[in-house]
Amino acid sequence: MLGPPATGKGTQAALLSSTFGISAASTGAMLRDELRRGTELGRQAAEWTKRGELFPDTLALDVVWAWLKGRTRFIFDGFPRTVGQARAFDAGLSERGLPLDVVYFLDLPEQTILDRMSSRVTCRACGSVYNEIFHKVAIGDACPTCRGELYRRDDDTTGALRRRMEQYREFTLPVAEYYRGTGLLKPIDATPGRDAVFATLYEDILERNRQA
Ligand code: AMP
Repeated sequence: MLGPPATGKGTQAALLSSTFGISAASTGAMLRDELRRGTELGRQAAEWTKRGELFPDTLALDVVWAWLKGRTRFIFDGFPRTVGQARAFDAGLSERGLPLDVVYFLDLPEQTILDRMSSRVTCRACGSVYNEIFHKVAIGDACPTCRGELYRRDDDTTGALRRRMEQYREFTLPVAEYYRGTGLLKPIDATPGRDAVFATLYEDILERNRQA
């Protein structure tokens, strides 16, 4: 799942994961979890993310290969974030005989992204994401899913948001072009909202299976 921040990649990855029984992972969430557990890896990653900057490719690839060990079916959300990561990922996948089926590219107009990001709250315990206005929740409330504490991510603040958009344009947008070139890119308009986007993805996957 590729796309700008706050287009619902994590939400869709979680829905696909539970519907199709495929494990989903997000490099951002994995490193936030490391930080919560107070590990050195988490501390290193936070140095970059709190400024809204990407962490180094090697850090992302290390956590990805560690997580992929023993798995053959997977969904990644927010990875690869740079063309360097994409090339290294593809090379590693072909060594392991694990071809990518599709790269969904969820897109939204920039103003919608900024609006969504600045009203986004996240659960410290389970990582679920909510919108303060849409879901009528506030920072400090109990998570509707697991009763954990809702908080604003350090990188969901105005300065970091602007930086994340710049990093997205500079490094991640070229990843979409890279996968367009390999024929795997499937653009999806994320404007219609969670359920309509999920319906589109679901139909696309069924159609791919029918053709396989
Ligand atoms: P996310 O949870 O996907 O929004 O990621 C949060 C932050 O973690 C991003 O703004 C980046 O700073 C960093 N990040 C997540 N995944 C990667 C990655 N694959 N490569 C580099 N930085 C990443």
